[in-house]
Amino acid sequence: MARDRIPIAKPMLGAEELAALQGPIESGWVTQGPEVAAFEKEFAACVGTPHACAVANCTAALHLALLVVGVKPGDEVITVSHSYIATANAIRYCGATPVFVDIDPATYNMDPALVEAAISDHTRAILCVHQMGMPCDLNALVPLAQRNHLPLIEDGACASGSEIQVDGTWDRIGKPHGDICCFSFHPRKVITTGDGGMLTTGNPAWDARFRLLRQHGMSIPDTARHGARQVMVEASTGLGYNYRMTDLQAAVGRAQLRRLPEIIAERRRLAARYHAALEAIAGVYPPHEPDWARSNWQSYAVRLDEGIDQRKLMQHMLDAGIATKTGIMNAHREPCMADHKLRFPLPHSEAAQDHGILLPLYPGLTDEQQDYVVKNLENGS
Ligand SMILES: *Cc1c(COP(=O)(O)O)cnc(C)c1O
Repeated sequence: MARDRIPIAKPMLGAEELAALQGPIESGWVTQGPEVAAFEKEFAACVGTPHACAVANCTAALHLALLVVGVKPGDEVITVSHSYIATANAIRYCGATPVFVDIDPATYNMDPALVEAAISDHTRAILCVHQMGMPCDLNALVPLAQRNHLPLIEDGACASGSEIQVDGTWDRIGKPHGDICCFSFHPRKVITTGDGGMLTTGNPAWDARFRLLRQHGMSIPDTARHGARQVMVEASTGLGYNYRMTDLQAAVGRAQLRRLPEIIAERRRLAARYHAALEAIAGVYPPHEPDWARSNWQSYAVRLDEGIDQRKLMQHMLDAGIATKTGIMNAHREPCMADHKLRFPLPHSEAAQDHGILLPLYPGLTDEQQDYVVKNLENGS
């Protein structure tokens, strides 16, 4: 019997998203207008932040976050190599140098114990990553950043809806813990607008700067000009960018946001099923969720014993019609960073890439399909 390939991820889109497009198409207002403003308001309420600013994608969000906290050519930003290349690239867009520290192999996130040794006279910011939706240890990183008078930027690209326990209460990532958090709505993330990004902050001055920079530094937003009874002429106040989100994207985003609780509940149910099933398989270890974190399980990374051949296992799975991926890339190993000089060894980051595989996990993956994935993981390892 021919089986459809089981993909690694699949966005949950349907009639609601399709219907949401009708409004902006009929109104003719299709970029950075009322749908974007409404999406920002609803996203802000969802994560518990006073300010949310929508942009074209998370890479743009990271670039603006770094610019606004003052990262300049020659500066250093402490981050992890174990991330999608966008994290390091945003630092390089500012003319700054990423200084990579290793991850905690249990959570795949920045090890707070390694950060202080990486701080130099040139350090301008710390950029942590809530990798694969697992919250970073903000309870350690926030006071560390404050103690050293450094802004903390969170790459929450994968972390829409993830939660962390702070002072005894569960908060969503994006509530101001660090100084700025950046989200992605790429189809590989838990909610999608095709492409899209969001910046959240508690700082109104920074939010105002994001709004200028995302539209060429223009002094008057289109939403204000269109409603005005008097002629308003805008001016470009400084070098800015075209980092706008469209109203078509925002309309889809609003529909996706309404589904977020349902999406996360299903992802967590599937993760728990993997977790239970993997316990019986030798040499294969499920990811760890600290008791202060609730991941949205944007990705589910399994760790393999060194004796298991990662590529052979992935090929075995692919032959069975199951897509997998290696562990998260290490930016410093990519050809685009060939001339980068590491300041610290990154054994855990490299091992996570070389001895990990990501398994299919998305709403719509049936229990039967998931059992089939587990069976093939067992046979192939
Ligand atoms: C996906 C991702 C990004 C980039 O997001 P885009 O919206 O595609 O620009 C940045 N950082 C991490 C950790 C990601 O996973």
